[in-house]
Amino acid sequence: MSLYDRFEAAFMPNYGVPPVALARGEGCEVWDVDGNRYLDMIGGIAVSSLGHAHPALGEAVSRQVATIAHTSNLFLHEPEVLLAERLLGLLGGQGRVFLANSGTEANECAFKLALKYGKTTGRTYFVAAENAFHGRTMGALSLTGKPSIRDQFGPFPVDVRFVPYGDADALKNAVTDECAAVFLEPTQGEAGVVPPPDGYFRAAREICTAAGALLVADEIQSAIGRTGHWFAHQHEGVLPDILTLAKGLGGGMPIGACVGFGAAGTIFAKGDHGSTFGGNPVSAAAALAVLDTIDGEGLLEHVRAVGSELADGIAAVDHPLLKGVRGRGLWRAIVLTSPRSAQVQAAAQRAGFLVNALQPDAVRLAPPLVITSAQVATFVTALPAILDEASHD
Ligand SMILES: *Cc1c(COP(=O)(O)O)cnc(C)c1O
Repeated sequence: MSLYDRFEAAFMPNYGVPPVALARGEGCEVWDVDGNRYLDMIGGIAVSSLGHAHPALGEAVSRQVATIAHTSNLFLHEPEVLLAERLLGLLGGQGRVFLANSGTEANECAFKLALKYGKTTGRTYFVAAENAFHGRTMGALSLTGKPSIRDQFGPFPVDVRFVPYGDADALKNAVTDECAAVFLEPTQGEAGVVPPPDGYFRAAREICTAAGALLVADEIQSAIGRTGHWFAHQHEGVLPDILTLAKGLGGGMPIGACVGFGAAGTIFAKGDHGSTFGGNPVSAAAALAVLDTIDGEGLLEHVRAVGSELADGIAAVDHPLLKGVRGRGLWRAIVLTSPRSAQVQAAAQRAGFLVNALQPDAVRLAPPLVITSAQVATFVTALPAILDEASHD
């Protein structure tokens, strides 16, 4: 039986069977179990920020796992303190951190902070955006505005009202002094790498401040250099009350973070929240290595430069299946004129590129932040033939 058949037989059917079995990686290249090589243009969904087998990550993780791998939250350790301080330093210094293992858990923390804030201030509902993705656990799922993954698991414990993403007037109308919190992605990721109109996030900040609601920025996909800034909210110069992080932070090791600014940092009292594995020393050491490497190798500037090359290169392709490209930095969607993203993903794979058919008409690119100009150029050069093949299947 092939690995694919064994996967199908052994796992729950929630993922379907993935099309490639990866064996190893190096930099931005990965090899499947049959020895085929691919350029990784999706980076494990914006996770593998340093690419694969980066020596800094390997050394940090190996050293930490060989020193002390786990303490639980009964005992503290230096890597978690260094990481929390480091994140706060990147965010201007004023805040408190909770470390979790994943994105959805970072959002559960934000959800509980907002629930507690609501209960103590008489605020009864939350606002989130249509098509938003905030995770799969029940709190995060209740905020997720995609009926196909949400509705069958309701009812949810909290009243969440959904507004069209990017519409500041709709947001304003939805947020009253009975709203506890507004959850927003600075650019919607799973919805198709959809940026809002300029000024939307700033408007959201003003609306929340005026109504006394917490603004929660879900930067699980958009942060840690993905857009060419440490955090996407920094593009608009807006500070949320609560920020959630995960994906790119650990460079492949599981870690999530929830940061509360100002009063939102001290909503929890002792005992209100916790996690056995959250912020474990190995993942914290990995995250420190990621942040050090982004800093040390000047990757933010690099992301802005190669991100523009990628977008300009795609935009310059003239093809009937190509409508355009959107997003920022190394976080892009190739937008198609017809719903053939699955065919594009398959054609790209045959041509030696891993991309993600995110929406029927949108293909996501989120390569490692270390991708080179030359690697970007090979993808751009291959794109017309990939689109041709995807048009004819
Ligand atoms: C991926 C993602 C999540 C969920 O993260 P998991 O680690 O899969 O739980 C939440 N919010 C956004 C914006 C994401 O992109």
